[in-house]
Amino acid sequence: MIRKIAVFCGSSLGSRPDYAQAARELGALLGQSGRTLVFGGCADGLMKEVSQAALAAGGKVESEFIQDLFRESDHIPGAEEHIYPTLEERKLGLIAHSDACIALPGGMGTLDELSEVFARMQLGMKKRPLGLLNTCGYYDGLQAFISHMAAEGFLTKEWGSFIQIKSSPEGLLKALDDQASVIR
Ligand code: AMP
Repeated sequence: MIRKIAVFCGSSLGSRPDYAQAARELGALLGQSGRTLVFGGCADGLMKEVSQAALAAGGKVESEFIQDLFRESDHIPGAEEHIYPTLEERKLGLIAHSDACIALPGGMGTLDELSEVFARMQLGMKKRPLGLLNTCGYYDGLQAFISHMAAEGFLTKEWGSFIQIKSSPEGLLKALDDQASVIR
């Protein structure tokens, strides 16, 4: 079982309650299964939902902060905290402190973090489980675009082995655990 999972997700809640619901569901599953949530440390939006649910379910949380964005309200009692001077270093911290990554619905920050992991694996970084939580079909467009990249010859046709895309937190966690056992 994967022990430490980095979650990338919106610092906003999005327009549907389903997004926050899915974030809470994932957080609760992480906590209940004794895993550590590694995340960007912000106490807003889906980031807040997933981290509070993980803590409430008895999970451990690691916050990877950017120095300039840190606010006292982001501090979570009991969480392990790492502070980085730049966005780039923080992104690497999220990867270094986790064994797998999941992107929930989010905006450009989420897409940036997801792309970083995907691109690094393509360039030869050790493969790691990577998942996209497709709540309410939020990532259908991205999935279609990734297929288009492969069809047009800009991405390996084996891209499905790099990323798991599922609509439920439970299904995604299972797919990532299965993937981890194949990678090892
Ligand atoms: P976005 O999807 O644009 O809302 O950005 C969310 C992602 O970027 C998260 O996974 C965080 O790691 C990072 N991020 C965005 N805003 C903040 C913030 N205020 N503090 C810390 N991390 C943030």
